[in-house]
Amino acid sequence: MAKQTLEFQAETKRLLDLVVNSIYTNKEIFLRELISNASDALDKLHFESLTNQNILEGNEAYEIFIVPDPASKTITISDNGIGMTRDEVIANIGTIAKSGTKAFLERVKESGNVTEELIGQFGVGFYSAFIVADKVTLITRRAGDQAASKWESDGTGEFTIEECEKESRGTTITLHLKDEFTGAEGSEKNFTDVDTIERLVKKYSDYIRYPIKMNFEIDKVSDDDQSDDQSDKKPVEKTIEVRTVNSMTPLWTKNKNDIKPEEYNEFFKHQFHEWEEPLEIMHTKAEGTIEYTALICIPKRAAYDLYYSTYEPGLQLYSRHVFIMDKCKDFLPDHLRFVKGLVDSPDLPLNISRELLQQSREMKKIGQTLEKNILKQLSKMLANDREKYEKFWAEYGKALKIGVYNDIYSGKVGEELKDLLIFKTSKEKKYSTLAEYFGRMKADQSKIYYAVGKDEAAIEKLPQMEILRDRGLEVIYLLDPVDEFALSTLRQYEGKEFQSIAREDFELDDDESKAAKQKTEELAKDNETLLKDVKEALKGKVDDVKLTARLKSGAVCLATGSFGPSLSMEKVFDAMNNPMFKAVKILELNPNHAIFGRLKALDENKDSDEFKSFCELLYAQALLIEGVMPDDPAALANKIAELMSK
Ligand code: ADP
Ligand code: MG
Repeated sequence: MAKQTLEFQAETKRLLDLVVNSIYTNKEIFLRELISNASDALDKLHFESLTNQNILEGNEAYEIFIVPDPASKTITISDNGIGMTRDEVIANIGTIAKSGTKAFLERVKESGNVTEELIGQFGVGFYSAFIVADKVTLITRRAGDQAASKWESDGTGEFTIEECEKESRGTTITLHLKDEFTGAEGSEKNFTDVDTIERLVKKYSDYIRYPIKMNFEIDKVSDDDQSDDQSDKKPVEKTIEVRTVNSMTPLWTKNKNDIKPEEYNEFFKHQFHEWEEPLEIMHTKAEGTIEYTALICIPKRAAYDLYYSTYEPGLQLYSRHVFIMDKCKDFLPDHLRFVKGLVDSPDLPLNISRELLQQSREMKKIGQTLEKNILKQLSKMLANDREKYEKFWAEYGKALKIGVYNDIYSGKVGEELKDLLIFKTSKEKKYSTLAEYFGRMKADQSKIYYAVGKDEAAIEKLPQMEILRDRGLEVIYLLDPVDEFALSTLRQYEGKEFQSIAREDFELDDDESKAAKQKTEELAKDNETLLKDVKEALKGKVDDVKLTARLKSGAVCLATGSFGPSLSMEKVFDAMNNPMFKAVKILELNPNHAIFGRLKALDENKDSDEFKSFCELLYAQALLIEGVMPDDPAALANKIAELMSK
């Protein structure tokens, strides 16, 4: 096919612009990115060769070769990996297909700047070549294909692509370096220098599993020169020697005690395309019926799409240090999806399909042990380093809470996770575990109280809170919509049931409260018609109207039925387009409030607009207190205005 000039996809152009024009402190990361792509390409080739030996065409060497060349002011990175077809070049290099990139651009818009962290986090790897090069030439041949393609671009708006010759499979990328990176006078860095490149490879890519080779010019001492005399004036011959620059020893195979924290950190960043050191590292070796080594890390920050379907959880799988597959999902349950890591085991059955492998007994067994270890490590962190655990919680607490909720299906009722939950409460400004709350419960307290709200301040202002505060009862604050779902799965802790302060069946069991309740019940009997009239006036809006003893200075509140979804759960279901799940709403009136007297007076004329408006205003207030927007805010405003002008 003839040479074609194509334009970069609009988004790619923007991205390129951002990458090239942003000010990096670290120009050298391009090398890490290109080596990492080469390594990925070798992984892909290896993976495909497991089922199709032919693809190797007899050449089983896997390697990456780097040639810095001062004469042509270039640096060339080659691999004999999977390569790309013409269409793949256009799709992979010319357009941004990855869903993460959109998010990347959005984040850039937010922060107004492209930082190295952002690049690293989202892996816009290939384009980093244009930080140091004003022209990039890529020649590639897909393993198994005959035709090769040459792609070239100066990184502005267009690229060209044409058919070409290439002797062997794989990809060769040549960066035509900008002057300031060639060692010319006043240049910043010299990427045509062998020693510089060797150092960078060691720094960023030492654990790449494939040999990264370079040519080294060495002084050759002639054979007949046996003397030790170095001052010998004989001219020394120069000769080229190929050396592997990286150590290639997978970090996880080393002894734990021989690994420095920086080594773990660097490895983690490289291996999992992370840009910050991890929050936690677990390195375990197991011997016994199933032998394996696992290196598990918890990133400091949750992936931006951790809770979305675009996020692919899973561990990398190796067998005898050879990469088998990425994102192996079946090791760990979904609520540990934030964990990154790898498992290397000689005991996995590899001669079966990927699907069967994932369901194999060996894999299940390893997974179970890993899960236990991770949870154990987390509870250690919770006990010994609360500050760190709170950081963990801020990022991943939601995942564990969803895990508790999902236990509904497994019948485990959160047994393994319940002691890892932490909440803010009305007594402690910091987080408490359920055990800590339990330890502080009053001797005669029969339930664990909780309240739902958008933040601490909103809960503290709830009229229902007043009475609990008076009685010195501690209330757990549920600020995340998933919290109430989690507690509703747990149902109880150490035999004490969870009780929402907003449910109909909420009551306190001290003498004073009991007396108040009895009095309210009597009053309710006396006011039966009034309650019926209010209910009639709010038909279709509330399911019942009652008098309550739970309010002190508040006039009204909205309670939900003892069973079924609560108001906040209803909001979640609504947001999921699941309007079937409705809370049973009970409007509760405080008979000791002045408003109640007014209501009684108005009820004399229960068919009047005034009575109806009054009821609706009460209901709207109750909704607002719960943070629910009334259906028709404009009508509400009108009613208030009317009342105010009277
Ligand atoms: P990422 O590596 O995160 O996918 P990059 O921008 O680094 O993003 O690379 C884009 C894509 O280009 C890769 O996913 C891969 O498909 C392709 N690619 C890049 N370099 C190579 C290479 N050396 N061999 C084969 N494919 C490559
Ligand atoms: Mg990459």
